[in-house]
Amino acid sequence: MLFNIRSIISSCIELLYPKRCVACEKVLLKIEKDLGFCRECSKKIRLVGQDTCMKCGSPIANPIDEYCNNCNRTTHHFQQNKAVFRYEGRMKESMYRFKYSNRRCYSKVYANQAAKLYGRWIRQKKIQAIIPVPMFRPKEKLRGYNQATVFAKELGKLTGIPVATDLILRNKETEAMKGLGRLKRKKNLLNAFTLTENELQFRKVLVVDDIYTTGTTMDSVAKVLKSGGTTQIYGLCICIGEAQ
Ligand SMILES: [Zn+2]
Ligand SMILES: [Zn+2]
Repeated sequence: MLFNIRSIISSCIELLYPKRCVACEKVLLKIEKDLGFCRECSKKIRLVGQDTCMKCGSPIANPIDEYCNNCNRTTHHFQQNKAVFRYEGRMKESMYRFKYSNRRCYSKVYANQAAKLYGRWIRQKKIQAIIPVPMFRPKEKLRGYNQATVFAKELGKLTGIPVATDLILRNKETEAMKGLGRLKRKKNLLNAFTLTENELQFRKVLVVDDIYTTGTTMDSVAKVLKSGGTTQIYGLCICIGEAQ
């Protein structure tokens, strides 16, 4: 009985595939629908490409470099992070609407692209669970959803990997990170996350988030996961800026 009710509820909130371009909101032609971007935007929107930092996945100008400057001087708690799109131009607007204007359906387009680019990589890593970066609960209630969770669920459907949303809690409302330097971000996130269980059953996980900036969020989450016994933490973000 419970199962039936659950499946009815979940089918009611099932997201529809976007009818408009996720970058510019123009109504999509039939032929553009699979991609989720209109023709014009699909020419403009840039994926991260081949030349990326081996650690954080940000695009690097000089393909000879293995790591970006930020990763060269920082030790991260996660093994490796990947990102799909460059955080620039219309993609910035897309992310804004995804986060603040209830465009949850965009997650289908983002997840399709993520699975296309990194499906094999995810399989190779033998990921046992996908973990979205949690939001502070009161904030999530106010917004109605956590965009990282929405993305994680779409990616979970495509990869067949379970999504674990209740393993980590965000304890406080962290100040807006924009404009804060690396050290201030770190301080800001100190003790921001805790585990809901002492010992986690997953050894290899994929942490997903919307935007990767300096890696402090990914790092803080990875650190707390390690304290629960997870040994390999990979990251996947929808967008990432140029290497720093
Ligand atoms: Zn467009
Ligand atoms: Zn890097």
